[in-house]
Amino acid sequence: MSHSFKLFRLQQIDTLLDKSHARLQEIDRLLVDDHQVQMSQQRLDLVKNARYEADKSLRIAEQNVKEQRLKIERSQATLYGGKIVNPKELQDLQLESEALKRYLTILEDLQLEAMFAFDEAEANFLETSDQHSAVMTQVAQEKDELSAEKVELIQDLERQESEREAAAANIDVPDMHLYEALRQQKNGIAVARVLEKTCAACGSTLSATTFSSAQVPTKLTRCTSCGRIFYVG
Ligand SMILES: [Zn+2]
Repeated sequence: MSHSFKLFRLQQIDTLLDKSHARLQEIDRLLVDDHQVQMSQQRLDLVKNARYEADKSLRIAEQNVKEQRLKIERSQATLYGGKIVNPKELQDLQLESEALKRYLTILEDLQLEAMFAFDEAEANFLETSDQHSAVMTQVAQEKDELSAEKVELIQDLERQESEREAAAANIDVPDMHLYEALRQQKNGIAVARVLEKTCAACGSTLSATTFSSAQVPTKLTRCTSCGRIFYVG
């Protein structure tokens, strides 16, 4: 097995490990993220409050109509009760009774408006409540899936770790040091494949000398442009 092939194998495993670790971090972040539920809850609280206010307004409007009707009843009772005989007083009472009736029409219109507003708020609440339930179900399902993926990922990681151990065991110490240093400097990618005489990592073309040097199994050849270790295969 050539030196570069051993490092290339190690690189493949490390790339998988990097991906698994990154995904694991992402899953942990997603599992504690509840902004979707919070936003949905906030929307629900708003429409719930709007419904409460609409209900309150409706009750007040109903009460106003009720009281106005009582006032009219009392006024009519006095008017036709026979106790008041003075024509001026009777006329005043008649006018007052008419005024009370006119205002009752206004109050009844307001009650009708309040009923419509409540119906709308109620419908809005029911719709938002359904949407909230759907969000909760969806989020719970997503978290179940993420948890299942996490379990699998941890198993993958254990397998990849032991594969890495085996792959690293037969690599010379100086090669390993170079590999680790390049991994740190080069965003995790220390070994670049040579495809069509081109560095697959940075895209630069290999000279004929570099290309033949990269094919020697006992030595490591590095890209003159990006510095990564070449693997021709
Ligand atoms: Zn390169």
